Amino acid sequence: MNKYIFVTGGVCSSLGKGIAASSLGSLLECRKLRIRFIKADPYINVDPGTMSPYQHGEVYVTADGAETDLDLGNYERFSSVPLTRANSMTTGQVYQTVIQKEREGRYLGRTVQVIPHITDEIKSRIFAIGESPDVDVTIVEIGGTVGDIESIPFIEAARQFRHDIGRENVAYVHLTLVPEVAGGEFKTKPTQHSVKVLRELGIQPDILLCRATVELTDSMKKKIALFTNVDDNAVISAHDITTTIYEIPLVYHKQNLDKIAIEKLNIKNADNIDLSQWEGVVNSFKNATQIVKIALVGKYIHLNDTYKSIVEAIFHASIANNVKVEVIKIDSEELEKIGNDENEIKKIFKGISGVLVPGGFGQRGVTGMIQAVKYVRENNIPYFGICLGMQIMVIEYARNIIGFEKANSTEFSHDSPYPVISLLEEQIDTKLYGGTMKLGNSDTKLIHDTKIFDVYKEEVITERHRHRYEFSNKYRDAFKDAGFIISGYTLDESLVESVEWPDHKWGIGVQYHPEFKSKPFSPHPLFVQFVKASKENAK
Ligand code: GLN
Repeated sequence: MNKYIFVTGGVCSSLGKGIAASSLGSLLECRKLRIRFIKADPYINVDPGTMSPYQHGEVYVTADGAETDLDLGNYERFSSVPLTRANSMTTGQVYQTVIQKEREGRYLGRTVQVIPHITDEIKSRIFAIGESPDVDVTIVEIGGTVGDIESIPFIEAARQFRHDIGRENVAYVHLTLVPEVAGGEFKTKPTQHSVKVLRELGIQPDILLCRATVELTDSMKKKIALFTNVDDNAVISAHDITTTIYEIPLVYHKQNLDKIAIEKLNIKNADNIDLSQWEGVVNSFKNATQIVKIALVGKYIHLNDTYKSIVEAIFHASIANNVKVEVIKIDSEELEKIGNDENEIKKIFKGISGVLVPGGFGQRGVTGMIQAVKYVRENNIPYFGICLGMQIMVIEYARNIIGFEKANSTEFSHDSPYPVISLLEEQIDTKLYGGTMKLGNSDTKLIHDTKIFDVYKEEVITERHRHRYEFSNKYRDAFKDAGFIISGYTLDESLVESVEWPDHKWGIGVQYHPEFKSKPFSPHPLFVQFVKASKENAK
C-alpha cells in the first residue's frame, strides 16, 4: 500500500511549511524511499501565473510549463522528485473540473456538493500521483492556516484519506508556532489552540513541528505533547537556524522525525539513511570564509520571496565556489531617481563583485535596470541577465553602442523607433501566434567559441521559459556588426535565446530561467561560473 503524509499549518502563515515538507521528504528520500510531493493551495485563482509578486512571491515554473507556487521549487531543490502540473492544485482548478463535469451532465442529475464531489476531486488528484507503482510515500502540503474557511475542503479530504485507506497508511504532520512574549517566555497556548482546531475538523496530528526562535526544551515538548495528545517524542523543535535552510533536514533527523514518520506509517526496510550530501552542503557553507557581494537589481526587492529561486541558485553556486555570497538587493526604481550621476551609481555599486538582473514584467523600474547594466558593462563587472535581464542588456547595447536612440521593448513603449525586443506577432505582422506566454522546457542550440558554450560544454541544452517578448530578428545583423554576440538560438534558429558582451569579463544574458533547475547537490553551471567570475573579480 502506498503511504501518504499530510502537512498542515497552524497559528499563522509564513512559518515555512514548504521547507518543512521538503525537509521531511528529503529525509525519506535519503532512506531510499520513492517520494512525491503535492501542493494544495486554497485560493480560487486557477494558478498563480497572473498574481502579483507582491501577493504571491515567485511563480515557480515546472518543466512542463505549469506556473505554480514557490513551494514546488523547494520540493525540487530538496529532492530528486519529478514535478509536473499534476503536483499542484488550487481550489480554482478543483472547482473548475467539478463544474465542467456538472455541465457535461456527468453527475447524472445529482446535487453537486462540497462533500463528496469537491473532496472526491481533491482525493482523486492525490491518488493519481500517490498510487503510481513507483511511489512509496506522497507528501501533501495544504496551503494556508488551519481554521481558514478556504482550506476546509482540503482538510476534510485529508481526514477522509485515513478513513478510506487505513490508519497505518496515512500520517498527519502539523506545523505550528511557539512564540516568545515579553520577558523571554515561550508560549505553547497558540499551538494547543491550533491543534484543537485541527481536531475539531477531525484530524488528530501524529507529529508536531514547532517553530520557535530557540530550540524547545524537553519540558516544553512534554507540555505540548500532553495538551495536544501527541507522543512526547513526536513533538519536534523546528527552531530558527543561523546557517542555511539546507541544515533543516539534519536538525529534524537529529530529533528522529524521519524515524517516527516511517514508524507511524509502518514502513519496513527503510532503516538505513545516508545524509552525507546534506552534511557536505552544510560543512561547505560553514567552512567558506571569503565573502563575495553580488547585487540583485530588480523592482520587487523589498519582498523576500520574489526572487526565491535566483537567491537559492546563487547559494548553490557559492557552495560550489567555496565562498559566502552576500546578495545585495538594489531597487531599480531608486537607481532611476539618481539619474545618470556616475559618482552616485559608483557609490551604490561599491564593493559589489557581480550584478544580476532577474526576470520581471512591466515598465516600472526598467530605466534603473538599464543604468545598472550600462555601468557594469562599462566597468567590466561580471553580469548575468535572466529573461528581462537579457532584454535589458539588448536595449542598453542598442542605445549606447549601436546608437539606436530610444531603443526599447514594445512591452514598455509603442513608439520607439527601434523596438529591439518585441512580440513575435509584431515582428512577423500576424496575429497567428497569439500573445501567450512561452512556458516550460524548450531547447537551445549554443554557438561554439562563446562564453556560454564554455559554461555548458554542450551543443543543445534544455531550459525552462516564462516570457512573451523576444529579441527582434530584424536587428540581428545590426547587433552582430556592432560586436554583440548572439550565442544561442532555438533549434530552428527562429529565436534568440542567449547573448553576451564582447571584450568583457563575464556578461551573459539568457532568455530562459536557469534558476529553476539549480539544486544544492547539482548547482546550475551558469550560476557556478557567474559566481566564479564574481569571486575572481572580488580579488
Ligand atoms: N517581461 C518580459 C517578457 O515577457 C520578461 C519576462 C521575464 O523576465 N520572465 O518577455
